[in-house]
Amino acid sequence: MKIAGYEKLSLQDFPNNMSCIVFTQGCNMKCPFCQNSTLIPTEPEGTIPEEEIFDYLRQRQKILDGVTISGGEPTVQKDLKEFIIKVRQLGLKVKLDTNGTNYNLLKELIDEKLLDYVAMDIKNSIGKYGVTSGVPNISMDNILKSIDLLKQNKVDYEFRTTIINEHHELKDIYEIIKLIGDSKYYLQNFNLSDDVIDRSLTGFTEEKLNLWNEIITNYPSVYIRGREKR
Ligand code: SF4
Repeated sequence: MKIAGYEKLSLQDFPNNMSCIVFTQGCNMKCPFCQNSTLIPTEPEGTIPEEEIFDYLRQRQKILDGVTISGGEPTVQKDLKEFIIKVRQLGLKVKLDTNGTNYNLLKELIDEKLLDYVAMDIKNSIGKYGVTSGVPNISMDNILKSIDLLKQNKVDYEFRTTIINEHHELKDIYEIIKLIGDSKYYLQNFNLSDDVIDRSLTGFTEEKLNLWNEIITNYPSVYIRGREKR
């Protein structure tokens, strides 16, 4: 697997678990708000040998609960499944972060009970998906199938959307909620960082976040990351 980096210990990323986060190289989207844009190109080889990851995991096997596989888009890796199997053989759980474009692989991993948690990004309402994913003629087929698959509750999961002033209105979020039903859904505020492709983008002000937080109280399964529900 092409691995571009790893964070040795995260207490937050994998709900209720201490995890090591592995970042894969390569993505099939080009989201203008991507915080890891150096991980988008698929050509570069990974800079971290897989063996280094497994050496670390073996050392920390008793402390860690699991591994989060993030990116980039992990499902573009040809040997993702083999990597996951090796992680599980160490007795560690696996969380997968995905944009949902590789429905077949996601289904295979879920059917074979190789995943403990899936966090799937929903970039925007369907009509705006091309702009917000940076893939103007994006096909929604696999993404919609992945949403339906997760809704079957065969694995713990969450949907999440990074909210950006220039891309998201409340009506987009309502459209997404219609699509995902009462699935757990996190809105996370956009933060500008050096890696972001479109540096004209802005996150929500505290006031706007407060307002949205108030509005979404009607939806018990929708949260703004880092905020208590009122
Ligand atoms: S899907 Fe994720 S990794 Fe890929 S470009 Fe979008 S935010 Fe970045």
